[in-house]
Amino acid sequence: MAETPDLETVLSIVEELWPASLAESWDAVGLVVGRRDRPVSTIHFAVDPVSAVVEEACDAGADLLITHHPLLLRGVTTVEAGTFKGEVIHRLIESGCALLTAHTNGDSAVGGVNDVLAEILGLEDSAPLQAAESGLPEEGLGRIGTLPAGTTLGEFAAKVFGILPAVAGGVRVAGDRDAFVQRVALCGGAGDSLLAAAREAGADVYITADLRHHPASEAREAAGVGGRPFLIDVSHFASEWMWLPAAAQALDRALADRGYDVSVAVSGINTDPWDFVITPGR
Ligand SMILES: [Zn+2]
Repeated sequence: MAETPDLETVLSIVEELWPASLAESWDAVGLVVGRRDRPVSTIHFAVDPVSAVVEEACDAGADLLITHHPLLLRGVTTVEAGTFKGEVIHRLIESGCALLTAHTNGDSAVGGVNDVLAEILGLEDSAPLQAAESGLPEEGLGRIGTLPAGTTLGEFAAKVFGILPAVAGGVRVAGDRDAFVQRVALCGGAGDSLLAAAREAGADVYITADLRHHPASEAREAAGVGGRPFLIDVSHFASEWMWLPAAAQALDRALADRGYDVSVAVSGINTDPWDFVITPGR
């Protein structure tokens, strides 16, 4: 008969899938709330540990909430329940739900955020844009690969829009709508630190999120032949949500392989902070 794992066992499998050593030095990944000897029969995945997501997980009876983004990244002097982070921590503890962060380790890993995006977009021969400092050659931030057939920037942007979860802001594109694109660089989440790497890798187009005026403007000025790489700016939430079903499935399979039976679910809550957009564009 299938067994129920304890949290320590789940953590050891999470470490195999998304090793903490792959996290960036500024990051805070791993267990945030929870007792390692508690049984885990229900696991919930989400991008953001915001109150609506925590309510959803606790209402579903989750024993463990795994989020991509950290709840606590900078110095904290109180978890008083009157603060929104303190309230989240109280709700989790009172519900017996642990909280685990898989952030930049989840970005860099094989089968992580960037790998999954590359796969969903159909990129072939994809490799990291920036290799991990302490990892395998196939681990690291961002990915670059080639579409099996070239297309136009407009068609490709429409494909990206159609694949990602729908958010108010849609996708923004910099470049000639009719230009040919085949070599694609991407970085889930905020990827302006890899703008130069995308250009140097010969990308026709770079997909990432949270592109601000100056980095985007300067990248357009520094662009190579024909203005490449073009830029596709997507929702930070949407780009990282894409990982969740694959991550949930990978953890579910790894647990099942070891004879454990756990129910795994993915949050359906849109935690993109924007609600509507006003634009003169098409
Ligand atoms: Zn992110």
